[in-house]
This record gives sequence, C-alpha cells and structure tokens, in this order.
Amino acid sequence: MKERFSRQTVIPEWGEDSQRIISEARVLCVGVGGLGTAASQYLAATGIGTLGLIDADEVSVSNLQRQILFQESDVGEKKAVAAGRVLQKGRADLRIETWTESLTTKNVDEIFARFDLILDCTDNFQTKFLINEACVKLAKPWVLASANQWEGHVAVFYSPKGPCYQCYQRAVPTSELPSCERTGVLGAVVGIVGSYQCLLGLRTLIQLSRPQTTLTVSFGEILFFDFLKLKNFKTHIRSQFDCRVCGALAEPIDWGPQDFEISPAEFSRRIQESTGIPQILNFSGQTFSKFSPIKIESLYEPDFLAGYQKDKEILIVCDLGHIAKEIVPALREKGFTKVWSLRGGHGAWLEESRRETYA
Ligand SMILES: [Zn+2]
Repeated sequence: MKERFSRQTVIPEWGEDSQRIISEARVLCVGVGGLGTAASQYLAATGIGTLGLIDADEVSVSNLQRQILFQESDVGEKKAVAAGRVLQKGRADLRIETWTESLTTKNVDEIFARFDLILDCTDNFQTKFLINEACVKLAKPWVLASANQWEGHVAVFYSPKGPCYQCYQRAVPTSELPSCERTGVLGAVVGIVGSYQCLLGLRTLIQLSRPQTTLTVSFGEILFFDFLKLKNFKTHIRSQFDCRVCGALAEPIDWGPQDFEISPAEFSRRIQESTGIPQILNFSGQTFSKFSPIKIESLYEPDFLAGYQKDKEILIVCDLGHIAKEIVPALREKGFTKVWSLRGGHGAWLEESRRETYA
C-alpha cells in the first residue's frame, strides 16, 4: 500500500501524515454527473477511506461526452451504482456507500452524519441550499462547485469558521441555474472544476485534522474560472449577521446533547464573571482573549496540571472544538470536576464576537 501512494507521500507538504488523514476520511459526493465523476475518481485514487455516492439518475448517452467514468455499456444503469462498480475495480480496499435516490430534507441529516466532508456535485440551487442548511446544522465542511459552458466556480464552506452559502446566495434566482441540458458544457471544463473541487476537499480534510499544515483553504472564498478568456478571479464572501441559515437571527438550531460543551456566548459570560484570573487551557494555536497558546504536548508533562486548581472552573479552547471536547473527559477523570470545552473552538468564538458587534 505504501508503494501505491508513494508519488504523493514523497511530496513534502503532503507526506505520510496527510495520507493517514485521507485514508481515514469519509467523503460524500452529492451528484454523480460531470463534477461527481471527476471528483470521485481522484478522491478514490488519492486514497480516501470511504466514498459516498448519491444520485437518482441513470446514465444516458448524452452524459458520455463529459462523464468519462461511464462506458457505453453503463447507459440505463443508475449512476451511483455504475460509478461505484468502476471505482471499486480501481481500488479494492475503498469502502463505497451508494444511494440511488435524491437528497431530500427527509434523508439529508442521516446521510450527512455518516461523512466528514460533503462535495456538492449538483447543478440545481435547491439541492445546494439543502446541502448548505444541513452542513450548517451539522457543522460539516462542504465544497460547492458549478460548471457551465465555459465557466465554473468552486468554494469551501464551513460555518463554524466562515460564512455559509446562504450569506452569498440569498435566494434561488428566478432564472434558476442553467443546466447542462439547456446550455451545454465541455467535458474538459467540468473535469477541471471537479478535480479542483476534489483538491479543495482533500486540503479541507487535512487542514481540519492538522492545523499546523500549509495545505489550507480559505473558507468562504469563491474562485471563478473563465475558460473562454482563460482567466480566473477570486472573491471572498462575508458572513451576513441576518443570514437566515447561519446568522444571529437564524432560528435556533438543535445541536443535540453535548455534555461538557458550552456555547461561545456562555464561554464569554463565564470568563467575564470569573473572579480572579480564569483557568483557560488554550490549545487553539492563537492568542485567545489575552491567553497565549499552549502546545497540546504540554498535557503529557508530569507537572503541567499541578499548576491548575481542581475545584475551580477550567475552560478548554482549541481550533475547532474537536480536540478540546476529547480532553474534557480525561481531565474530569483526573479529578478536575468543572471542566468545559468551547463548542466550535476559537473560530466559533470569533464569529460570535463579530455577531455581537453587529447586533
Ligand atoms: Zn449564512
């Protein structure tokens, strides 16, 4: 297996660490058309652990000009099934999960909960909005992509650390997104956009697991491709405090039971109400409310915890909330009874502070 991925693990920025992260990752492609077939082939070949494919459509003859994963013999078969079969041939150890139904409000939560990252490989606004809402609710990262005629665009959204799609696209345009059926698209165009979407997805997975990596993405930045003039340009979406989905005025979202996690607002309140200097373990890698970052390895030093009082509140911060959440039970077992972690980490706290300023 080492040999199989040796041409990428040898790249300094990638290495064995990124390969391990990717090999454990679970990625879902919503739509197995031009974007989905391009992205899924590279996801599989790069070595992701689990690939999900959801599409209710069947392969048609007019798909073959750009959906080059499919053969003439696949025409009439469900796209998710045909793609799954081909990809499995290419990598016997790849775990594949397929759904031959449309993504709906009824199945979206259950399906998305099984994955670490969602790729939007659809060509309609309704599904993009559905993906966005579910990803904000479940705090999942997702990669938007569109390709049409000579144009394409891609963006990564991760609401704990940036705007959401609704902040950018407030409503379904009356013209609707032009579908390939009506306006046409070149195979090479959709192939580049789908490959780029895959690359952003891989970098997102690595960034969220290894904050020190140089393989980062900028959440909420849209990259536009113009393949007619051969030009690209970027723009950054801003979070909208009145966004219906992620803004301060959004309907409260039920995040489910989170035993020892507290919200950014509650976190700020506890810091303010703390008598004396609050006990903060800041593993976020950035200065947090006057507290300098601490290296996570410090926890393994024998005397490190001796500097903290067991009966006094301890608040743990990390980058995204995942690491802090895992540290809490360990400290509670050691007798620190009042330990809480910041839900969504440093990013969520910054977002909350920004909302408070706007409100
Ligand atoms: Zn939003």
